[in-house]
Amino acid sequence: MITEALKDTSTNIDAIRTEVDRVFAAQSANRLAVATSDAKTRIKKLKSILKWIETNRQKIYDALYADFQKPFPETDLTEIYYVTTEIKHAIHNLKDWMRTKPVSPTLAYLTTRAELRYEPKGNVLIIAPWNFPFNLTIGPLISAIAAGNVVCVKPSEYTPNTTALIRDMLAELFAENEVAVFEGAVETSQALLAKPFHHIFFTGSPSVGKIIMKAAAEHLSTVTLELGGKSPVIVDESANISDAAAKVAWGKWTNNGQTCIAPDYLMVHEKKYDEFMGQLKSHIEKFYGATEEDRRNSPDYGRVASVRHHARMKEMLDESVNKGANVFIGGKMDADSRYLSPTVLTEVPQDAPVMTEEIFGPLLPVMKIKSVDEAIDHINAGEKPLAMYVFAGKSKTIKKSLDHTSAGTTCVNDCLVQYLHPNLPFGGVNNSGHGSSHGYFGFKAFSHERAVLRHNALAPMKLMYPPYTNFVKRIIGLVTKYF
Ligand code: NAD
Repeated sequence: MITEALKDTSTNIDAIRTEVDRVFAAQSANRLAVATSDAKTRIKKLKSILKWIETNRQKIYDALYADFQKPFPETDLTEIYYVTTEIKHAIHNLKDWMRTKPVSPTLAYLTTRAELRYEPKGNVLIIAPWNFPFNLTIGPLISAIAAGNVVCVKPSEYTPNTTALIRDMLAELFAENEVAVFEGAVETSQALLAKPFHHIFFTGSPSVGKIIMKAAAEHLSTVTLELGGKSPVIVDESANISDAAAKVAWGKWTNNGQTCIAPDYLMVHEKKYDEFMGQLKSHIEKFYGATEEDRRNSPDYGRVASVRHHARMKEMLDESVNKGANVFIGGKMDADSRYLSPTVLTEVPQDAPVMTEEIFGPLLPVMKIKSVDEAIDHINAGEKPLAMYVFAGKSKTIKKSLDHTSAGTTCVNDCLVQYLHPNLPFGGVNNSGHGSSHGYFGFKAFSHERAVLRHNALAPMKLMYPPYTNFVKRIIGLVTKYF
């Protein structure tokens, strides 16, 4: 599905660069016209995206199904609903977001008027991953358009059907000097990264995030890095165990575990461990089927997105089992259909790959803990997670786990749903990301907050201009002491 002209091969890398140069120049020439557009014009663009999605819902379902057999209801909830919510939220609030915000003066600035103006970053680049290929490409695009930017979009090469759909959708809605889609893989991404974008919004792995940040440094481009890592779950003895098991099962195996904020590993209090494991198993059976055969045939269970990632899952599972992990449920694979059953691992050694790398698939290791302190120590020994989950009934336990750890986002007594809250920022911290997205925070990511101070001829500062006579020195002394 990747178009010939833009497919990454060693022979056409020059063609990719030429195309990137051409589009970048065209967008640069159009940048000011887009930047000075008013809220009404931008809202019209957002409405056209909304209408396209509503009219072409079936095409979106089909593309995601063709890519990794994503069940339609999951596409509705985790791809379309998020994007349409973002659009509606932006349409509703854009005028207010764009409004110049007055800033109150301090005593020394009483004769001035200060304000914050939101100006678009300008030429922006969005690089997206494969795991929510529609959501994670169109979501940031909504914010970029709302903020008044011209945009180059590079979706993932691993979801060719959704990428082709996005290409057609955006070509239908926008001239390429405003929004352009680049199919292709790493070479295309690198050709784009060579250009002096004003902002780069990257969603992907921490290792590629470092490459993006280095490329951005070359032009001092600002970056938003939406990265990943291991997202831990604490299940305390005070938790509602049945509720926790249901939510973990949903949060883990939605999108086949290929969610940046999916529960990556569980730490369950030993006093509730057996009860929790029984509940987890029964929720897997309830959601996807009572037997392995039922689960394989379930229309509600997706697939690993690519052959490469399926092979990676197999390697992770095999190596973890070789090191002594026990398969509590699942572990069945079929490379041809890229199937991997919902799999829970217990007694997992800490040096097993499922405990050292982000899993990003349907494997779930579970540890037994003696106390929440043990879980906190475990979390703090690793990188700061993108998401951390706490299931507990005691508010003291919840407070302690929040106070003593750091994470991009946290959801208490639920999983994943913090992502969908339009008034909460979404993003990581250090290894799990820089900056944030969604709603107003997404608009801000694609805007520069320009500080403007207005003054007039009655400027007290003039009293402090040279020559520094004794009188001027006395004034400076008074100002620096009392203002
Ligand atoms: P990835 O980092 O391999 O690829 C992401 C994008 O970067 C793709 O478009 C790819 O073409 C491009 N890319 C890959 N290598 C590159 C290179 N050397 N130079 C330039 N560009 C390059 O990530 P992925 O495998 O597509 O996605 C999985 C990762 O993304 C996981 O770590 C996951 O946690 C993370 N993720 C984070 C979020 C979030 O919102 N924080 C959301 C989804 C996924």
